[in-house]
Amino acid sequence: MDGTHSIGETNRSTGRSILENLGVTPLINAGGPNTKHSGSRPRAESIDAMNAMSEVFVDLEELLLAAGNEIAQLTGNEAATVTSGASGGLVVQAAAAMAKDDPERISLLPITNEMPNELIIQRGHRFIYDHLYLAPGSHFVEVGRATDCTVEEIDAAIGPNTAALIHLESPYKEKTGAPLTELSDLAHSHGLPVLADCASMLPPRENLTKYTRQGADLVSFSGGKAVRGPQSTGFLVGKTEWIEYARLNNAPNPGVTRAQKVSKEEIAGLLAALKVFTDTDENEETKNYLDQMNFIVDQLAEIPGLSVKVTHDYDHYIPHAVIVLNKDWRGPTYSEITERLKAGSPRIYAATDYRDPAQCMWIDPLNLQDGEVEIVTTQLRELLIKGASGF
Ligand SMILES: *Cc1c(COP(=O)(O)O)cnc(C)c1O
Repeated sequence: MDGTHSIGETNRSTGRSILENLGVTPLINAGGPNTKHSGSRPRAESIDAMNAMSEVFVDLEELLLAAGNEIAQLTGNEAATVTSGASGGLVVQAAAAMAKDDPERISLLPITNEMPNELIIQRGHRFIYDHLYLAPGSHFVEVGRATDCTVEEIDAAIGPNTAALIHLESPYKEKTGAPLTELSDLAHSHGLPVLADCASMLPPRENLTKYTRQGADLVSFSGGKAVRGPQSTGFLVGKTEWIEYARLNNAPNPGVTRAQKVSKEEIAGLLAALKVFTDTDENEETKNYLDQMNFIVDQLAEIPGLSVKVTHDYDHYIPHAVIVLNKDWRGPTYSEITERLKAGSPRIYAATDYRDPAQCMWIDPLNLQDGEVEIVTTQLRELLIKGASGF
């Protein structure tokens, strides 16, 4: 078989048929681009580009250099490169900080005893994904307290073994600590880079350049969240010098990041998605999300014992319908409500605050398709009305 036979219409699989054959039940994703609930829906343009790219072969280094230039242009940055998710970007950042463009060091990683291998991180910036920074053999030097940290404390921790300073930007971070601009000035006065994890900070689209403008040398973003490229992709933006170090330390080159390879199809899919993402009118997009979330609020507002409102702020990258159970609520907890939604028919994934599931729950419109907001609202309303009477 040469693979050129087209598959007959009647045999075409659908997402549902693939899952059915496997005995797995699909769900409506009303909780946002959570990886465990399969991320986000790649844009049609992204899937088309992946299919098209499967027809050709290319020198991957040439493709990656060109794709990096394209991403830099689309995002308004000096330089960029493709990674395997934002978390793959963290591994590459740390490798770049330690090995730079030294082929011997690159091949030694994760053995780092003969090179600066310490990453300074504020305690308030510790995060569930930060161990990726340690994958290429680096170590953390933690500074400050969970709630705050001064630039002086960071300065005092810098020594001959320091390779970089880390900065996290996320809803799940203490808002206190050293401002990124001051952290960058400090790092640069020591000849060190700032590595920033800003994986989920899109939209707003202005964030594509915000952290590089504030001085970060390498900023990691997800391609598989709101950008809606392939789930496994991400990209680094930053200074030309540091992007080059990142590229040299990244797959497909052999070395510690080899397991993070990104295919030519995924690279094309990311570019296509980013192009649409950066071309999209954010006000119009936001209005569409607001309409959907206001519909939920209207339908749930009169249920006794709870408050529901549309929230769009630093913690909620697009408008969310946030539900808070009041003190007099006698029904199920947030976790019980989301479990019941997930056990329903159709199954629905809704989100709780993962740091503290007793805070609130929300509906995120990013992955909702036509007609789904109505289904989600009906199920949720029924469940909450029952819950309000103690069930
Ligand atoms: C989502 C996220 C990641 C992981 O990004 P992937 O693209 O899924 O690898 C890392 N850091 C933060 C802060 C995130 O929000």
